[in-house]
Amino acid sequence: MLTIADAFDRLFATVKPLDPVSLALGQSLGLTLAEDISSTADSPPFDKSLMDGYAIRSTDLNHGTATLEVVEVITAGMVPTRPIESGQTSQIMTGAPLPIGADIVIKIEDTARDGDLVRVTPQGSQTNIVLRGTSVRSGDVVLRAGTKLNGSRIGALAELGRAQVNVHRRPTVAILATGDELVPVDQEPGPGQIRNSNESMLVAQIQAAGAIAVPLGIARDNRIDLRAKIEQGLQCDMLVLSGGVSAGTLDLVPSELAAAGITEVFHKVEMKPGKPVWFGLRRVGTTANYVFGLPGNPVSSLVCCELFVRTALKRLMGEPALRPQAVPAALEHPHSARADRPTYHPARLTWTPTGPVVTLVPWHGSSDLCGTVAANAMALLPGAARQYGVGDCLETFAW
Ligand code: AMP
Ligand code: MG
Repeated sequence: MLTIADAFDRLFATVKPLDPVSLALGQSLGLTLAEDISSTADSPPFDKSLMDGYAIRSTDLNHGTATLEVVEVITAGMVPTRPIESGQTSQIMTGAPLPIGADIVIKIEDTARDGDLVRVTPQGSQTNIVLRGTSVRSGDVVLRAGTKLNGSRIGALAELGRAQVNVHRRPTVAILATGDELVPVDQEPGPGQIRNSNESMLVAQIQAAGAIAVPLGIARDNRIDLRAKIEQGLQCDMLVLSGGVSAGTLDLVPSELAAAGITEVFHKVEMKPGKPVWFGLRRVGTTANYVFGLPGNPVSSLVCCELFVRTALKRLMGEPALRPQAVPAALEHPHSARADRPTYHPARLTWTPTGPVVTLVPWHGSSDLCGTVAANAMALLPGAARQYGVGDCLETFAW
């Protein structure tokens, strides 16, 4: 059976970033740049004051002090009109342009004003100014293609005047739950029925990954319904099904995906929960539809979505081909593992003064979704029965 590492290798060999689009800066949070961004101007664009105080010629200081004539008040947004001659100063505010002739600013706390005169006695040697181009020079590349946009980067783009940016767009992801036993969340289940919890969960996970979730409701376990809803799902960049990929008589998903022209990339991965996971694609010309069939047990769907769907979405959105990043965390309690396969166990990851620590939450297996609500991560227990001790290091994946 395919190992988890092999599954990721196949995934990265298959999934390619979506084409760039031009978006308003305000729409770009969490998206990845598809262009290098260089500055068309120096930043700051002029020499400016970092303090409220007085702009002076440093050569006017005599034994560390001077009494100077105030010739102007310069507030932020103004352009100074008076050059500073020897013996003169302008009162200046934070962010205002430095007047010609001045080379330092004495902060207001180090001054004593008397009418048109001010006595300046700087404590310390700070210049309290920032020169034009200190942060960025015209032509400098400030952000590289492939950078994911967050608050600071969006702020920098605004500083550079980029109201529009080229980014990889958000993928659309159809979500299709399969099963004759399922009823929508707002209906009371009858005998033998359960609520379709996977749809709500997958919508949330896919939105959290930055993609646009398109829930399609429930497909029944018959070929006609399944096939029609698969076709509907192929209108999106990605289709994520839950259920119907195992070995039951009504597990029709793999054969119906094949009938719809989807090529299998992998089916079954050596892991727990989630072993029956299915992944494939259909390429028509330059466009591709990616399809995941997740096992229906809710925690199997949860884990496979966190691992594979999320990673594929990141790649579609232009992020580097990187597996989910593990935090090595110290186990807080002993644990006896019986699993024969690598197991992603719901876990609580916390940061302590001595480093990250992890607790495995009580959990009854792949159908126990409510057991996962105490978790904020999953800890990977490598296959094979083993006794873990306090302080043993586990690879832990925050979700
Ligand atoms: P399957 O993968 O279709 O064999 O389903 C495995 C288990 O997951 C069964 O107990 C199903 O009832 C359950 N299941 C399947 N789909 C869902 C869903 N959308 N929401 C909640 N449980 C589900
Ligand atoms: Mg089923």
